[in-house]
Amino acid sequence: MTRRTDVVVIGGGQAGLAAGYHLRRLGIEHVILDAEAAPGGAWQHTWDSLRLFSPAQYSSLPGRLMPSQPGELYPDAAHVIGYLTDYEKRYELPVQRGVWVSAVHRDGAFLRVATDCGDWRARAVISATGTWTRPFLPAVPGRREFAGRQLHTLQYQNPREFDGQRVIVVGGGNSGAQIAADLAGRAEVTWVTQRPPRYLADDIDGRALFDHATARRRALDEGRRDTGGVASLGDIVAIPPVRAARDAGLLTARPMLSRLTATGAQWADGATAEADVVIWCTGFRPALAPFAALRLRGTRGHIATVGTRAVDEPRLHLLGYGDWTGPASATLIGVGRPARDAAREIAGLLRA
Ligand code: FAD
Repeated sequence: MTRRTDVVVIGGGQAGLAAGYHLRRLGIEHVILDAEAAPGGAWQHTWDSLRLFSPAQYSSLPGRLMPSQPGELYPDAAHVIGYLTDYEKRYELPVQRGVWVSAVHRDGAFLRVATDCGDWRARAVISATGTWTRPFLPAVPGRREFAGRQLHTLQYQNPREFDGQRVIVVGGGNSGAQIAADLAGRAEVTWVTQRPPRYLADDIDGRALFDHATARRRALDEGRRDTGGVASLGDIVAIPPVRAARDAGLLTARPMLSRLTATGAQWADGATAEADVVIWCTGFRPALAPFAALRLRGTRGHIATVGTRAVDEPRLHLLGYGDWTGPASATLIGVGRPARDAAREIAGLLRA
C-alpha cells in the first residue's frame, strides 16, 4: 500500500517534533514516522543520572517553554520525555510510532519512503533520525581479545551493576566525563581520553553554548569572520556531579590506550591496567542509512548541505545531528531555527 502526503518527517525525537511544529504552522500536510514505541526519541535510552547541561527554560522547542523541574536546575531525561510527550499532544503532531523507515528512493516528482508498514510518496522528506541508533566504536587493536565485558554509552544505565569492578571508561566528551563521574567511588575507574580533558569554565553551561552558537550564526549571516563552533570553548560541561568528582580528584584521565589485551589495557609506554569492563563513550554517527539509495555526496559520513537542504537532492532536508545542519541543531533550543528554515524552504518548493 502506498500513501501520499506532502512531507514525510523521519524521526519523532526533538528535531522531528520541531519540524512538525513549523510545518503545521505553515499548513503543510505531513506525517512524522518514528521507530520508537513511545515519545521522547533518544532521551528514552539515556543513563539514569543524565542531566541536561542547560536549565529548563534554555532547553525549549519552538512555541512552548520547558517548565522547570521542581528542585532541579538541570532537568533529568524523564522530565524531557514528559515535555516532549506534552509538546506532541499540544500541537496535535501527526506522529506514527513503531514505523521503521528502511529506504528513500527517487520516484519522478516524488520521493518514495519505504517502511515496514508500507510506502509513502512525498514531495519532500525531512530526516530527523538522530544519532543514537548508530553507536560508534573505534578500531582499537585487541578489542576482540578482551575477555571482560564491553559496552557502549548506549547500554550504560547506572553504577550499581559495576560495584567494586575495575572499569575502563574511554572517551573525553560529556558522556565519558559523566559516566566516569557516575562510577567514581563505586567502581575502580580508569578514565582514558584521546587528549587531556578540556572542561568548559565552571560558570559556563548550555546557556553560554547557545549564546555562542547564536553569535556565530549572526556573524556568518552578516558576512563577518567565523567566530568558531562551540567546540572552541571546550568539550565537557562541568555539571555539578562532574565538577564534584573532578574536584575530589576522582577524574584523573590517562592518555588513550594503545591496545586491549585479554585481561585489560596496555599503553604505548608499556604501562598496563587490569579490567573487568570497558565502557566505550566514543560517540555516535548520523543515522543516514535510509538515504543510501540517493547516493548523496558528503564527508565524514555526513550528507553535504546548504543550511538544512541536501546539496544534491533539494527535496531532502536534514535536522539535528550537529552544526553541519545548523548551529546547535542537535540541541533542544537550537533545533527550532533550522526547523523553521527547512519548513519555509519546503513551502517554497511546494508552491513552485
Ligand atoms: P533523537 O532523539 O535520537 O530522535 C531520533 C528519532 O528517530 C528516534 O526516535 C529514532 O528511533 C528515530 N529513527 C531513527 N532512524 C529511524 C528510521 N530509519 N525510521 C524511523 N525512525 C527512526 N541536548 C540538549 O538540548 N541539551 C542538553 O543538555 C543535552 N545534554 C546532553 C548530554 C549528553 C551526555 C548527551 C550524550 C547528549 C545531550 N544532548 C543535549 C543532546 C541530545 O540528547 C540529542 O542530541 C538529541 O536527543 C537529538 O535529538 P534528535 O531528535 O535529533 O534525535
